[in-house]
Amino acid sequence: MIDIRNITKTFGGFIALNDVSLPIAEGELVALLGPSGSGKTTLLRIIAGLETADRGTIRFAGLDATELSARERQVGFVFQHYALFRHMTVFENVAFGLRVRPRSERPAESEIKRRVEELLELVHIGRLADRYPSQLSGGQRQRVALARALAIEPRVLLLDEPFGALDAQVRKDLRRWLRRLHDTLGITGVFVTHDQEEALEVADRVVVMSQGRIEQVGTPTEIYDNPRTPFVYQFLGNVNSLPCQVRRGEADVHGLIMPAPEYAGISNAPGVVFVRPHDLDIADEDHPASLVAKVGHQTILGPVVRVELETSYGEHLEAELTRARHAELGLSQGASVGVRLRRAQLFLTEAVRGPELRNDDV
Ligand code: ATP
Repeated sequence: MIDIRNITKTFGGFIALNDVSLPIAEGELVALLGPSGSGKTTLLRIIAGLETADRGTIRFAGLDATELSARERQVGFVFQHYALFRHMTVFENVAFGLRVRPRSERPAESEIKRRVEELLELVHIGRLADRYPSQLSGGQRQRVALARALAIEPRVLLLDEPFGALDAQVRKDLRRWLRRLHDTLGITGVFVTHDQEEALEVADRVVVMSQGRIEQVGTPTEIYDNPRTPFVYQFLGNVNSLPCQVRRGEADVHGLIMPAPEYAGISNAPGVVFVRPHDLDIADEDHPASLVAKVGHQTILGPVVRVELETSYGEHLEAELTRARHAELGLSQGASVGVRLRRAQLFLTEAVRGPELRNDDV
């Protein structure tokens, strides 16, 4: 549906997008995820036709859209701080995109009314049609913004941090609702977020960006379970890291030997082992397959308990245990325990430094 090929964009001497290629299928909902400044909004604006690339092409349904305006591309937008028209009611805000069409393309007044009412029902604000934006909550305003973007029946819906300004509970409700709305309408959608939970929960595919490049593209499960680079691993959730030495298919973490068959050809190189807090477990101090550590502060976080640990080499780790497992262990602060790594991922130090070096190159 949308084929983004070799897009490069610079601002002055700064490379905001560096040879980005991404095909987006019809009906797909794609999240552009990355830290601030990684180029997400710039890519969204180029897809929209609000910004032009220095190099590369964008095709919409097989046709070259590089030179087409936003209007000709038939895209609908929702931005984080979407300015609704303050002097217009909710109804008029949503009807706006239809009313400004050239006379020959403008639907009849009865048809506009029917369409707007249908959209307001779809976003669950039918009863608010006569209110003004100042009389709405933030979540309700975002729904109006969405209804307004959908009114023109866009082929593609683009959303830039659409729920960024809302509080946690409203955000959660709205993103579930966006997912359902997307499934109902079958529209192609691209949304920008820096919130990994939002991307993983809502999108069919997640595009992780860093410093103007795509680090990894995949389904939420692929991205979370098999991060291809250290950057993706660290960006998607909390992570512990431990230095190690990689030798002929094994990683040596302070004497704890772990298999690393993918590095069978490496005779001796420094590496880093990443472990998620919920993949750490605690055993007796003398457990043979564990690292010795001291128990620090323990915090109850709803269903899990976060346990801070300090290894005998001075590294700080965080384990997340279920309440049941924590109760069973009966840990006391200062106790010496064994830390087990249930699931870990190894990268060579060279790869861990990769993205930083890339920045210097730019
Ligand atoms: P955020 O999450 O903070 O919105 P982002 O990933 O969307 O970040 P972009 O807005 O795409 O990032 O910006 C990418 C880089 O390009 C940033 O370093 C930004 O400062 C720069 N940039 C964006 N627009 C312009 C502009 N019009 N002029 C100069 N630099 C710009």
